[in-house]
Amino acid sequence: MSRYAWMVVRAYLPALLALALAVIGMTWTSVSGNVHALSPLVPYVKWLPPIALLAALVAGLVATLRLWRWQSGKTPLCAGCGGPLGRLQQGPQGSYRKCLACGARQAP
Ligand SMILES: [Zn+2]
Repeated sequence: MSRYAWMVVRAYLPALLALALAVIGMTWTSVSGNVHALSPLVPYVKWLPPIALLAALVAGLVATLRLWRWQSGKTPLCAGCGGPLGRLQQGPQGSYRKCLACGARQAP
């Protein structure tokens, strides 16, 4: 798998994890409704899947927007590989941006 493919996987990983959490919540509420010891928790856990689905939607949209801006050339590019640079961070040697594809740090 190329470095750009891994970058895309990392970009969509929060959305996939939120989606998995929603599926686990839906499964848990449907299964635990039949178990008497777990049934009192169902009214609380039933809110987990909609919230997780909303989080997955927002995370997916943010990742898509970030990749779309990179493809459009609207974000700063890495001098080494041409990948998109992340947000401005403060380090011990000054501010820098980290490449989302290769991980190199670059001065803004
Ligand atoms: Zn790079």
